[in-house]
Amino acid sequence: MSKLDFVLEEIVTANRILANEGIVDSFGHVSARHSEKPDHYLLSRARAPERIERDDIVEYKLDGTAIDERGRAPYLERFIHGAIYEARPDVHAVVHNHSPSVIPFGVTGTKLKPLLHMCASCGHEVPIWDSRDQFGDTTLLVSNMDMGRDLARHLGRNPTTLMRGHGATVVGRSVRHAVFIAVYLEVGAKLQMQAMTMTTATGNIKFLSAGEVDRIVARVNDYTLNRAWENWARRAGREMQMQPAA
Ligand code: MN
Repeated sequence: MSKLDFVLEEIVTANRILANEGIVDSFGHVSARHSEKPDHYLLSRARAPERIERDDIVEYKLDGTAIDERGRAPYLERFIHGAIYEARPDVHAVVHNHSPSVIPFGVTGTKLKPLLHMCASCGHEVPIWDSRDQFGDTTLLVSNMDMGRDLARHLGRNPTTLMRGHGATVVGRSVRHAVFIAVYLEVGAKLQMQAMTMTTATGNIKFLSAGEVDRIVARVNDYTLNRAWENWARRAGREMQMQPAA
């Protein structure tokens, strides 16, 4: 299997996993940087993640121009992906979702912070991007490269940013890594809301310390990612593929 075949199949599996785990519904998308052309990326045509097949995946330039579109209508919000690949050479996969439990943290000023070891991958800081700050009243959709680049600037070096009134964008060094962070971002948000009902002040929650976050992030290796991926893929009716030799 070529590296390109591998990544195309990974994108299909990622979409099915994220749908099955409730991280995306009929909306949301996942992309990967092209395995041979780092200034191109791969993303499905506009379609619900649970329905995506390999033939739906289109190659795009970083500015969102499709290569060989063949009538396959693109996601309006594809600019999220290209702008992040442009700004972050370390990023090889991007997940954009409307992950339900993260939404309250984008609109209340209550900071989302990791309190479970599995959630350390959301990092020390989860920034919140508010489209209104730069663009005023919009549909909140990232509908051009200017908005995508503003979002990418706001993401900075972090693994994720929330998007006020909209959702979240998560990045990773591989498709499996981005999916892992996105799943545990939703888990962590739900747990923090539960913890907040048990205590009168956020200050009473024992979050992970900065040192704990660093140690856990350093330990999230292929073994961890593959163990989760195999399970989630099977649950979504897909098999885990073997990684082609580097
Ligand atoms: Mn969206």
